[in-house]
Amino acid sequence: MAETATDRLNQVLSDIRAAEADNGRTEGSATLVAVSKTFDADDIRPVLAAGQRVFGENRVQEAMGKWPALRDEFPGVELHLIGPLQSNKAKEAVATFDVIHTIDREKIAKALKTEMVKQDRDLPCFIQVNTGEESQKAGISPADLDAFVAKCRDDVGLNVIGLMCIPPVEEAPGPHFALLQKMAARNNLAQLSMGMSSDYEIALGFGATHVRVGSAIFGHRDYPA
Ligand SMILES: *Cc1c(COP(=O)(O)O)cnc(C)c1O
Repeated sequence: MAETATDRLNQVLSDIRAAEADNGRTEGSATLVAVSKTFDADDIRPVLAAGQRVFGENRVQEAMGKWPALRDEFPGVELHLIGPLQSNKAKEAVATFDVIHTIDREKIAKALKTEMVKQDRDLPCFIQVNTGEESQKAGISPADLDAFVAKCRDDVGLNVIGLMCIPPVEEAPGPHFALLQKMAARNNLAQLSMGMSSDYEIALGFGATHVRVGSAIFGHRDYPA
């Protein structure tokens, strides 16, 4: 592994550009979401200084603690919520984040919409799909997805831009990425949030538009997020 977070960032970015080319995709069609959860401002600052502006965090409280100051220092930050959300945190989530990846139930969809109207912020949203149908994992089940997309878009009025998944750790990710790609296409959703440190190059082969990469940039996390 390269020595510094900046070296590792540049390696991941060049891997992404190479995977785009290998798959006949337009250069820059995939966005790197640098996942900075558990890392503090001093770890994140060099990655910002290297030019990265799109970041992912999985906890509202943690993001509120470190990102307002970093946003002041580095204009143009785009912060993505990639972790599960409780509806009582909707207000803070809408104020803190720019994109939400984890919509998976009506209560959350409605709570976010209410806050977006109040705060006059129309955040792009992904719907999280539990492609492996794991009982402990967040996400809407594949069988319920089409109706849920329609509900979020047409009834709740959310700006749904795509789908997100986290494949089961013990399975090959390819079939899960393929399933997500198929479900997005049939719902006319252009964006796919899939692929992490271990499998982002595979995800790019299945049309990922947002890869969420943490440890390959920031290094090993000392405590589970
Ligand atoms: C932590 C996390 C990531 C990044 O994981 P790495 O394996 O460190 O790249 C991506 N997506 C979600 C939802 C996460 O919680």
